[in-house]
Amino acid sequence: MNDDLSHHIAKDLAKKIEDFKPKASARRVGYIQSVTDGVVRIKGLPQVAYLEILDFPHGLLGFAMNLEEDAIGAIVLGDYLALSEGDEVRSTGRLLSMPVSEDFLGRVINPVGAPVDGKGEIKAKQYYPMERIAPGVTSRQPVTTPLQTGIKAIDAMIPIGRGQRELIIGDRNTGKTSIVIDTIINQKDEGVICIYVAIGQKTSRIAGVAAELNHHKSLGHTIIVAASASDPASYQYLAPYAGTAIAEYFMDKGRDVLIIFDDLSKHAWAYRQLSLILRRPSGREAYPGDVFYLHSRLLERACRLDEAHGGGSITALPIIETQANDISAYIPTNVISITDGQLFLESDLFNAGQRPAINVGVSVSRVGGAAQIKAMKKVSGSLKLDLAQYRELAAFAQFSTDVDETTKRQIERGARMLSLLKQGRYIPLPIAKQVTIIWAGSNGYLDDVPVARVDQFEKEFLEFMDRSHKKTLSAITKEKTLTPEIEEQLTRAVGEFKKSFVK
Ligand code: ATP
Ligand code: MG
Repeated sequence: MNDDLSHHIAKDLAKKIEDFKPKASARRVGYIQSVTDGVVRIKGLPQVAYLEILDFPHGLLGFAMNLEEDAIGAIVLGDYLALSEGDEVRSTGRLLSMPVSEDFLGRVINPVGAPVDGKGEIKAKQYYPMERIAPGVTSRQPVTTPLQTGIKAIDAMIPIGRGQRELIIGDRNTGKTSIVIDTIINQKDEGVICIYVAIGQKTSRIAGVAAELNHHKSLGHTIIVAASASDPASYQYLAPYAGTAIAEYFMDKGRDVLIIFDDLSKHAWAYRQLSLILRRPSGREAYPGDVFYLHSRLLERACRLDEAHGGGSITALPIIETQANDISAYIPTNVISITDGQLFLESDLFNAGQRPAINVGVSVSRVGGAAQIKAMKKVSGSLKLDLAQYRELAAFAQFSTDVDETTKRQIERGARMLSLLKQGRYIPLPIAKQVTIIWAGSNGYLDDVPVARVDQFEKEFLEFMDRSHKKTLSAITKEKTLTPEIEEQLTRAVGEFKKSFVK
């Protein structure tokens, strides 16, 4: 090497050394005290923040969870078996965050953003924090746009608005997941991005959901965040935050997002498990005392932003599984109290063939009514009345033999309306069709159709509308209200159809 050059390099190095300001003050070091099931106790690191990323040996990462005066509890992401007592741990000053990108659409990822669907790497340039303070009231606006599920019983009776939090609650195997899958399928042409967060389910089930969505061409607007039953509790704990971080990324772009947590009961279990290992004091049903705060902070992040903040929204549909319909258990009570409404699913209804098994008498949506289109509001008003009367009279009529004509008619009508609320899977109905069929029912056009044939009537009538009265359906979609002309067209159409319908 020539002398000049080496001299130059030496000078350059000397300058670099002079200019070097150690950043070490931001990097603090602690030591592992113990490792149990992926949870580590660390001595030192006094200034670490909740959810701060920690650097472990062997390239492992983790995050701080439990901050005590003399030690911290942390969760290791990855193969914690490589760690042992005395190992060094460094704090990073960065909070746990989630890679976010449009490229996540159509993919199944784990709660740290790595794809698990074997479809290759996803490049993300941006990161969003897993925990974020929910937007304040000043940047929110009231919920006024419907989130159409395509399910008659919901859109007509318990409507959900964009930005709302509606709980779906019921025992095992009552059709909870089916409702949200149909809702996702119904967003295909609605421009709503869907995030399905699967927590503690069997891997095969999650794969099943992905396959169903793909089959119904609805994976493209969906992201599945999966933490299965065989994943560590830490992943199951993180999954809803990971999903919400992605949801916020899209909301900040002004998009409407639907996020589903399937389910928060299992999330609470994962949190309980982590807390037990962390030796946190536990309260009711052995859950740590702050599990309520945990879920309320999470669901608080669902909202509708005002125009100044882009006008995006996050609608949250958390799911809770009950045991023997017990909604007074700790987690159900908590989540009921922090949502804007609840859909109660019941095994009795499910087994009696009333599917979706929503008990429309007790289910509520506190903000959704404001988000219903006028046409639906109008027809659902009489539907609600018919059903309420039916519930009252049917119970009463059971014990009485001489029922007068009016009562009998009301019972007959109610039975038909209830039957109209039945709906199979994978056939979400556009709102115009829902309005059309409920209009027909509440105007008595099904009164002479046997209850057992109601679904047949509905199917054929709506096909007939598609074939011969497409304009009327489009008019309902466009006008969003039932003008006298539209009602007149509907009357004509149903008259025409009934001539050909074989009862
Ligand atoms: P789990 O508690 O196991 O998560 P779940 O409450 O999510 O169950 P689903 O898995 O959605 O229930 O549905 C249970 C079964 O009921 C499935 O076999 C599904 O096909 C059937 N089912 C759900 N909804 C309907 C429906 N509307 N019509 C007919 N069958 C339905
Ligand atoms: Mg389910």
